[in-house]
Amino acid sequence: MLHFPIYLDYNATTPCDPQVVEAMLPYFTTQFGNAASRQHALGWQAEEAVDYARKQVAALIGADVTEIVFTSGATESNNLALKGLAEMYAAKGNHIITCVTEHKAVLDACKHLEKQGVLVTYLPVDREGFISLEQLEAAITPQTILIAIMYANNETGVIQPVEEIGRIAKQHGVIFFSDATQAVGKIPVNVLADGIDLMSFSAHKLYGPKGVGALYIRRKNPRVRITAQIDGGGHERGARSGTLNVPGIVGLGKAAELCRLHLQAEGGRLSQLRDQLEQGLLLLEGVQVNGGADNRLPHVSNLAFPNVDGNALMLGFNKNIAVATGSACTSASMEPSFVLKALGLPDDLARSSLRFSLGRFTTVAEIEYTIQRVSETVRSLRALDPFSAS
Ligand SMILES: *Cc1c(COP(=O)(O)O)cnc(C)c1O
Repeated sequence: MLHFPIYLDYNATTPCDPQVVEAMLPYFTTQFGNAASRQHALGWQAEEAVDYARKQVAALIGADVTEIVFTSGATESNNLALKGLAEMYAAKGNHIITCVTEHKAVLDACKHLEKQGVLVTYLPVDREGFISLEQLEAAITPQTILIAIMYANNETGVIQPVEEIGRIAKQHGVIFFSDATQAVGKIPVNVLADGIDLMSFSAHKLYGPKGVGALYIRRKNPRVRITAQIDGGGHERGARSGTLNVPGIVGLGKAAELCRLHLQAEGGRLSQLRDQLEQGLLLLEGVQVNGGADNRLPHVSNLAFPNVDGNALMLGFNKNIAVATGSACTSASMEPSFVLKALGLPDDLARSSLRFSLGRFTTVAEIEYTIQRVSETVRSLRALDPFSAS
């Protein structure tokens, strides 16, 4: 039995896993304490819950508990990493290297820093969506304090060569920050193996609640320091003040644990479903995969349907299937996706593209229905347009 709408927009957000909700519930009511209240049991219980969640989160990414700072989500973590680092290391240098396909939360924080006199290099990407390691290394100057390259792209799922970037950063004594919001919990991410010094991620992209996330900050080899961007009671070792969102943090912890336990099996299952979806839709004339197909997240497929407008296509089935055109963050505007344009897609092909992102609750029946329904819609739209390919 199919339940509509079929949700294939897991990169925009995920539903909370029922086990996550269950873990959170007591912390709204009976265990409502403030984790900073040291004088009574309600406070201690809240603190204990936060400590446990911190262990669960650290275990997912191979970090130490002292290296996890809880935030309101990846947007805040990205801002804290970039602005906090630029401020702390201003005396050392004023140059940051990032790339054109980063999330807006990184790009706009960089723009903000540029207004304050920081120099930012925006590396291009090739047709598959990868940065060039040669260009990265060539861009490093004695003034470079940070390399900010995302782990996996939210629109295409393309995974950057993170380990190599980490190695280059280390060789040159530059700090490496990665927005890993789409990768953490989906593929193995280990801050030691990957050589990452700062890393953002978010609960609502990994079956946890909205409004909570984390920033990993390396404590040794090298010890990374950042300037807090929210001042107050000195929570989170002074890195991020504000009463802790205890239920949210408990939810992030539980979500992280579930991802760690199921990552391998879930990745295998989803890549099979994704491949099935892709093979089905690639039977349509001219359909192409956007982004390097070989180094992608297992659950993401971004497809271009030439001679069909993406919005018209989506309107043809969006009562029954939820997918994204371009990125969710810019879909309010009709601009073609800047990420797809950076891959070299012309405007019309970028506008003809849809992102399918699968997840924990996606079934074979849903994929079969989606192939059939999208194929029908593409064929009927093309039949209406006498100039298009069939
Ligand atoms: C969703 C997302 C963000 C923003 O995360 P929020 O927790 O919603 O603020 C940042 N970066 C990437 C790559 C994302 O996919």
